[in-house]
Amino acid sequence: MTLTNWNGNVTIAAEDAWTSVTSVDQIEALLAGTKVPLRALGSRFTYPMQLRCPDGTHGIVLDLPGRGVGEVRGDRLLVTGDTLLTDVWRVFADHGLEPAACPPVITRQTVAGALATGTHAQGLAGGTFSDAVTGIDLVDGTGTRHWLTPDDDGFDAAVLNLGCLGVVVAVELQGRPRTDVDCTRFTAPADALPEHYATWSRDSVAAKSWWFTEHDVAHTWVAHDGSWARPASVCGDSGDLDRVVARTRSQLMTDIGDGGGQTPAARTLEKFLAATDTRGTLQEIFHNGIPAPQLNMEIAVPLDAVPAAYARLNELLRSSATKLHYPVILRSTGPARGHLSPAHNGPVTYFGFVAYMTTDGHLTTARPLFDDIQRLLHTLGGWPHWGKYLSPDLLPAPTNGFAEFRTAVDRFDPDRRFANDTFYQALGLSDRAAVVSGGRHNG
Ligand SMILES: Cc1cc2nc3c(=O)[nH]c(=O)nc-3n(C[C@H](O)[C@H](O)[C@H](O)COP(=O)(O)OP(=O)(O)OC[C@H]3O[C@@H](n4cnc5c(N)ncnc54)[C@H](O)[C@@H]3O)c2cc1C
Repeated sequence: MTLTNWNGNVTIAAEDAWTSVTSVDQIEALLAGTKVPLRALGSRFTYPMQLRCPDGTHGIVLDLPGRGVGEVRGDRLLVTGDTLLTDVWRVFADHGLEPAACPPVITRQTVAGALATGTHAQGLAGGTFSDAVTGIDLVDGTGTRHWLTPDDDGFDAAVLNLGCLGVVVAVELQGRPRTDVDCTRFTAPADALPEHYATWSRDSVAAKSWWFTEHDVAHTWVAHDGSWARPASVCGDSGDLDRVVARTRSQLMTDIGDGGGQTPAARTLEKFLAATDTRGTLQEIFHNGIPAPQLNMEIAVPLDAVPAAYARLNELLRSSATKLHYPVILRSTGPARGHLSPAHNGPVTYFGFVAYMTTDGHLTTARPLFDDIQRLLHTLGGWPHWGKYLSPDLLPAPTNGFAEFRTAVDRFDPDRRFANDTFYQALGLSDRAAVVSGGRHNG
């Protein structure tokens, strides 16, 4: 059977080019017994360019004992790397706990896959999934097994590893008592975002905004402990929002050829209808994504750069003939661990962009616009989400923790068994051929 992406429309590994492994011994044997390049794969939600196994690279899909069950140790949970995030939240909940991180909108990703690309939600504390990680069990490219904790050298590479260090076979996660928070929902003129969004993020548990660029309004959910009040100056009413959503949905349906509004893409907008204040766990409030085939990109800019990013994006999107299918999503996180985390140096706001695929499986013409957005936001200190659409050739000159990460690759995978063309190009890492012929990058 060929191995596809989550949606079944892109081949990730040919029939004989991947193996389901059922034990850590089998991974160690694969590393010791062959020299072939390997690629660990999770639920395959990452943009296919980063996942596709080139000729000669063998995919590994984990199916480890204890998957989805884990072992609760006090307020911590040890799970296999292939455990789905859904199971993490469920097992913690069975013990009256929740992970010490806000859930992303979908939780069908694996724990190891989510970590590898820096999967996040929102919240300046606990906004990134890795914020809950207290230990990582890694079989590196030499077959050596490491238990890495936040105090260890190597943790900051392993916690956002791009699958380039080896195979994460288990992860320990910090839990905390499962708690309800209030969620205030309101719609405001879009220009409230540059003025207020950073403050809402700083003053709350988590703040997420959706900017309907065609309609100049922003809808916001602020999760808080009861002490936050919506500023009187930025109130709107949900009736206005329902009209905006209906128009956005109808434009989307026309663009993707969905006559009846029954595709997952059209359904993604339904959560905004009749939005009212609510109370619940972070999972009940924010875990509401409907996976739909899409081109999906996020760029994180420093939190203080939100007003500039808003102004420049506003200009660009207004002048573009291409229209987005979903409001621009604003989510703030950080600081977060990880040499390659966009939030490594301080809090950031991710701006998220979505263009859905047509019902007959084609992408609309959004990619050039997405590239223009990358160029623009990079000039404001922006960095991409590593698991979504990105153009390695458009990245700014290597900076941040790239040098530290390259050093970690030299340490954990000196023979480049887990090389990945896209990530290597982005990071300025030399490939396997160069290493084998003696040109290892030591930067
Ligand atoms: C519909 C949709 C919604 C999404 N929502 C969000 C969101 O709310 N927030 C967000 O931040 N992101 C989101 N994403 C992105 C998603 O969280 C990331 O792409 C994530 O990495 C996917 O995890 P996965 O299990 O599918 O891993 P894969 O996509 O299969 O792999 C991702 C990376 O992890 C590596 N990897 C996988 N398993 C292992 C392992 N055991 N050991 C070492 N490396 C491994 C792979 O080599 C690859 O580099 C979304 C994506 C889609 C398509």
